[in-house]
Amino acid sequence: MKELQLEGRTVRAGTVLALGRNYAAHAREMNAPAEPVVFIKPTTALLPGGGAIAWPEGSQLVHHEVELVLLLGAGGVRLEPDAAGRAIAGVAIGIDLTARDLQSQAKKAGAPWARAKGFPGSAPVSRFVAPERFDRDWARLDLDLTVDGAPRQQGSAASMLLDPPRIVALLSRWFELVPGDVVFTGTPEGVGPVRPGQRMRAACRTLDLAVEAHLAPPP
Ligand code: ZN
Repeated sequence: MKELQLEGRTVRAGTVLALGRNYAAHAREMNAPAEPVVFIKPTTALLPGGGAIAWPEGSQLVHHEVELVLLLGAGGVRLEPDAAGRAIAGVAIGIDLTARDLQSQAKKAGAPWARAKGFPGSAPVSRFVAPERFDRDWARLDLDLTVDGAPRQQGSAASMLLDPPRIVALLSRWFELVPGDVVFTGTPEGVGPVRPGQRMRAACRTLDLAVEAHLAPPP
């Protein structure tokens, strides 16, 4: 069981849904079509507050992906964008850590990305704040990631192909959503490798949110 912090309250995390290719420039750097793709990380991948992460078994190449992360306060199926927007109870900054070599192998084999995306600790997240704090004006949110203090990724929610209400509406067509579900909303360009011991720091300056994490050496 994973517990998340939302405005001083504790919330039990549900399913972790994630969107890929939600920023056109990142889709280009991956030579992938700019059409969002959906995958799921196990709840046990969450690392609230960040910290140390065991190196994923069988991988030699882990990439950072900084992302805005949503926490649902309501659920349902086939939500309209208005209702989907109201279902968002919190937003955080997080990192969708990806074993890129395992993901490339899976893509070639037409196999699922589960091993590449789901290892323990592969989803560090900060505390969550209520969207009323920014009047649900999603385009105002920025996000960035540094590695050992050096800038690696910088973006704005204004560049998302699907904004958060549309993301939740889309997911609710394919999955039944429930309160506590967590949604990773995709990463801007600039993804890259992170070595053991390097300090990743993901931040959303607009909301004064940050989370730090580092990988332990391979066993
Ligand atoms: Zn991602």
